[in-house]
Amino acid sequence: MSRYISYEEVLRRCQRINQQYQINQDRFDQIVDYLVDTPRLSNEEKIHQAFQLLLQAVNEEIAGMEATADLQPTCQMGCAFCCYFPIVITKMEADLMKQAINQMPADRKTFIKRHIADYYHRYQDQVDSLGNVDIAGDPEAKLSYKKANLPCVLLNTETNTCLAYEFRPLPCRTYVNYTDPKACEENHMPKETISYDFLYQEYMGAFNELLQVLYDSDEQIGVNYPDDVYQEDLLINWLKEA
Ligand code: SF4
Repeated sequence: MSRYISYEEVLRRCQRINQQYQINQDRFDQIVDYLVDTPRLSNEEKIHQAFQLLLQAVNEEIAGMEATADLQPTCQMGCAFCCYFPIVITKMEADLMKQAINQMPADRKTFIKRHIADYYHRYQDQVDSLGNVDIAGDPEAKLSYKKANLPCVLLNTETNTCLAYEFRPLPCRTYVNYTDPKACEENHMPKETISYDFLYQEYMGAFNELLQVLYDSDEQIGVNYPDDVYQEDLLINWLKEA
């Protein structure tokens, strides 16, 4: 007998989430309030912290839903099949990830920068062709991208770990498997996985609220608002200029 629960069982348990779980909007609002009311932080520091705190809030929401449905992810360290999907984020998020890398301790920063430079050298042709796929407009684009087997620019393919794990963006957090991990190994687009990408609404809603307040202040915010929040592209394109 399999030690993993079936997809049908996952769906049954997810119904509990729909029936019993309320997204904790206060969790997101409190982050905005805390940052707005903390004068010792510059606007740029507030935005930088918002990125980490709001992503953490997304993690906590997912954990709350999992507890409600008695679900435990079967995604494990060293399993990185989802790191071959196209990851689309905004220019602001990409800039915040680059800043986070630049603020890392020297050894780690140097390692990541070297990895990124090697990546673009090694995968240049694939990045050039896949970097132009129309993920939003072409229904087949995601599958074609996945089939091309191009690793994410931040995936260490020797250890199958993310080089910027604590700053990984929202799409990397909201895609979860609760069934046999073989589903991801054996299928380009496993139907057994669950997506919590609806949390983008709370995450980006809170971000926008904070940005609007900071934008109206006298101090620079270091973000071209609102353009940087609406400009989306693949992570493999954004990090070319890391
Ligand atoms: S950012 Fe990290 S977690 Fe996300 S796809 Fe890339 S390597 Fe994987």
